[in-house]
Amino acid sequence: MELHLTCCPDCRSENFKSHTTYTVHGEQRHIYHCDECGSYFSQTKNTALEGLRTPLSRITTILDAINEGMSLNAACRVFEVGKNSIYRWQDRLAAVKEVLLLYALCHQFVQQLIEGDEVYTRVNKNKPPDESEGWTIVLMDRATRFIWEMQCGEKEQSLFEDAMNLLAQVIEQTEGLSLLTDGERRYGNILFEICYEVLRTGNPGRPKHTLPEGVKVRIKNKGSQAHKRGRKRPKYQAPHNEHPETEQNIEIKQIHANHLEAFNSSLRRRLSCYRRRTNTYAKTQSALQTRLDVYWILHNFVRSHFTTKQVPAVAMGILETGLSWQDIFTIQYIEA
Ligand SMILES: [Zn+2]
Repeated sequence: MELHLTCCPDCRSENFKSHTTYTVHGEQRHIYHCDECGSYFSQTKNTALEGLRTPLSRITTILDAINEGMSLNAACRVFEVGKNSIYRWQDRLAAVKEVLLLYALCHQFVQQLIEGDEVYTRVNKNKPPDESEGWTIVLMDRATRFIWEMQCGEKEQSLFEDAMNLLAQVIEQTEGLSLLTDGERRYGNILFEICYEVLRTGNPGRPKHTLPEGVKVRIKNKGSQAHKRGRKRPKYQAPHNEHPETEQNIEIKQIHANHLEAFNSSLRRRLSCYRRRTNTYAKTQSALQTRLDVYWILHNFVRSHFTTKQVPAVAMGILETGLSWQDIFTIQYIEA
């Protein structure tokens, strides 16, 4: 799978040549001619840049600002840009997110240690937390800081199901995967439902159901429960049967470390709609999701992580070098 324009949008032929060039905002672009079907197409065909009249440098300056903590309203005032323009750019990028996720899922991984947690913000005003659509599930690989999932919605079964369906796809690409979560039991339960295997040992009786080989789930017991008088519960639990061939290699101190807390506080710092006591909350769930999708691209594919000093997708072995905004705006969409 290639990320950039490699085929004719009409016939998918890779035999095309530059026909003419044109200049947009001082930047040279090509019109290609397909040798197979004869059609002409611009190099921005089916990319986020297609038909945009604003210079890319201005778009990326504004996107950088709103992903470094500036609110949308402030960006509109400072850069004298309309809100709808920003929405349009973000919608385009959210479509690129799909391409990048599929691209990531084309790779094979050795080991992953995934932390799962939820971060909460308000969507629209005056809704109690249990009705809010601002619950956001984050699934992050600990070593690389690559984020697989960043999905918002009401804190209900389907939000957890979507996240665990994605994780099941990641498991298919990974030799060994451990999921650590902080109390919420639905992660493990749903994952088990999605991908349990029936273990046939040849012994009589009902065959045992286990997680697939190499897959482990650990749930941290919250402090108050762990210290209740009388019975002492372990600090962490393996809530489901694991395959007998699964290597038991998680140390307790690994479980205690929590990298998502640091991630969540940087999210609160950088996306104004996640700031506490904010009045710049997102107006709708889909608007919030679009901001998250753009943030997902930036976090995984563009920025070097503060601690690892690497772009997460590079650390994960998905890319050799990080992408630039220019790269991302010129990624070819997959046509339905
Ligand atoms: Zn063609």
